[in-house]
Amino acid sequence: MNMGELKKLSHRAGEIEESQTMAFTARAIELRNDGVDVVILTAGEPDFPTADHIKAAAKEALDQDFTRYTAVQGIPEIVRAVSEKFRTVNGLPYTEQQVMVTTGAKQGIANALLAICEHGDEVLIPYPSWVSYPTLVKLAGGTPVPVRSGLAKHFRPDLVGFRSAVTRRTKAILLNSPNNPTGVVYTETELRAIAALASEFNLYIVCDEIYEEMIFDRRTHVSIGTLPGAEGRTVTVNGFSKTYAMTGWRIGYMGGPEEIIQASTRIQGQVTSSVNSISQRAAVTALRAPQERVRVMREEFERRRDLVWEILGPVKELDLVKPEGAMFYFIGVSKLYGRQGSVGRLTNSRDVVEYLLDSQHVVLVPGSAFGDDECVRMSFACSVDTLREGLHRIRNGIAGLR
Ligand code: PLP
Repeated sequence: MNMGELKKLSHRAGEIEESQTMAFTARAIELRNDGVDVVILTAGEPDFPTADHIKAAAKEALDQDFTRYTAVQGIPEIVRAVSEKFRTVNGLPYTEQQVMVTTGAKQGIANALLAICEHGDEVLIPYPSWVSYPTLVKLAGGTPVPVRSGLAKHFRPDLVGFRSAVTRRTKAILLNSPNNPTGVVYTETELRAIAALASEFNLYIVCDEIYEEMIFDRRTHVSIGTLPGAEGRTVTVNGFSKTYAMTGWRIGYMGGPEEIIQASTRIQGQVTSSVNSISQRAAVTALRAPQERVRVMREEFERRRDLVWEILGPVKELDLVKPEGAMFYFIGVSKLYGRQGSVGRLTNSRDVVEYLLDSQHVVLVPGSAFGDDECVRMSFACSVDTLREGLHRIRNGIAGLR
């Protein structure tokens, strides 16, 4: 047999692009390993360690040999805690049969889409959008349909755009508030309008609320599943990664109509089985213990958001919209297009990122990764010193353009 020519890989494998967030971060780390002082402002995770009381719960689980498979839905304690959290914090009346834990919010979104999408079903996604949503829709056999907003609209969801994007094939709307990459927090009025539209056209709603605790200026987070028209058709996805600085623990949760949760349990049961047993015990403690650390982290993120505003706000070549939540600025850079830098003429968001990496050793993510080539994404999930240095380099980089 000729082993030189293996059969072609799947169409699906070809459709999955490399994450641009990962690509630029990897290059930055390579440079750093070569001894270059690089400032990396690409992180999508808190720079805080997981709290000691959460780590203690994990250590206890290990010491008690709590190291076996668990029920796919989750251990009874986490199922109860998640159902209570949805009810008391979000006002979402999901019963214990309507919730489950997942290997991160990401798997929750994948579960929901795999349960909902039939081949060719369309899923409306507000753009700019987090990188994984369109890919997850495609993996589920669906067709992502961007509903674009942009800098000119301050990235607010385009409600008219949603209505005109609905077709016979539309099955669901996939939302994210607070939003990555824009920092927009949807208002109750916006969410009510989307809920009404979903009800009018009988669409499912999948809402990713992973940044719910990273919300500034005393705004309140509203879960769309509580609003008229959205009840009974909304899957709410959340997780521990951001709120409790637990990205590496790989645990998230979801709630929704019982049929979707049962289907998701079957899907997850075949793909990954139960969630890490130790993380589940740690997560129970995260939800049940006092939430002081969450407040401290939110306040710190708000201070950093304000620092960026102070330093980059006056730069006339940049367009900034002050983030209402999450941990990113999505900065308009199109005024730089046409200018000349060390890597040649800048014509798109990728060129801007290349230029800043090359000339200043500061790394951002091109907006094209999120479907908006006018902008670049800058994370403020890093120490104030790193952030100051990064902002200084960005300003220097702009001043150095011809
Ligand atoms: N949803 C959004 C909008 C995110 O930005 C991220 C992480 O960057 C995730 C989900 C992934 O969360 P998890 O670590 O719980 O899978």
